[in-house]
Amino acid sequence: MDNTVNTIWKKLDENAPREISFITENDPWRFLITVMLSASTTDRQAVSTASALFARYPDAVALSEADEADVGMIIRPAGLWKTKAPRIISVSRYIAEHGLPHDPESLTLLPGIGEKTAECYAEHVLGLPAVIADTHFVRVAMRLGFTDTADRGKAAREIRERFPRDLWSRMSMVLNLHGREICRPRPRCSVCPVLSLCPSSDAASGES
Ligand code: SF4
Repeated sequence: MDNTVNTIWKKLDENAPREISFITENDPWRFLITVMLSASTTDRQAVSTASALFARYPDAVALSEADEADVGMIIRPAGLWKTKAPRIISVSRYIAEHGLPHDPESLTLLPGIGEKTAECYAEHVLGLPAVIADTHFVRVAMRLGFTDTADRGKAAREIRERFPRDLWSRMSMVLNLHGREICRPRPRCSVCPVLSLCPSSDAASGES
């Protein structure tokens, strides 16, 4: 890690809350389904939709036997329901038959489980170091010069190569939170703790 990047990271880390969690569900299956529902919507919407879903289908066995149209109606508020419904049923069927995955690699073999979802599961459920490269994370990482690619998979690999493992999970949460609250698509640079160090602070011209 070069000095500037190190200084930026330390400052961001210091200014972030010690505990950051976007989806707090503790049951592994429910966590996984909630993360799948969160694609292309807000975490708040995903959690609220998941809550309605779990009220009707409380576990993997129940959802694995569910009618796709009924599931689709319940999860409609989270968007992309025609895609998400068969995927969450299919993943539930796999888990009902084989149990919960014990490594992120086997998760990515399931339908609808991309690298980001697998990394979320690795970090939250398995307690493994993980780089969770969602839209917020990649936007902030690029602006700060932590990566030079907008491709989520490549950005995650670059971060893994560039930073020690023990920083991955914390960095994922801190950059994600920073992207939600300050370094938004239209960044709020004037209130940013790394304004004086950021190579993209000219973006302040777009501040809202
Ligand atoms: S100075 Fe602006 S562009 Fe740079 S990290 Fe902060 S909010 Fe984002």
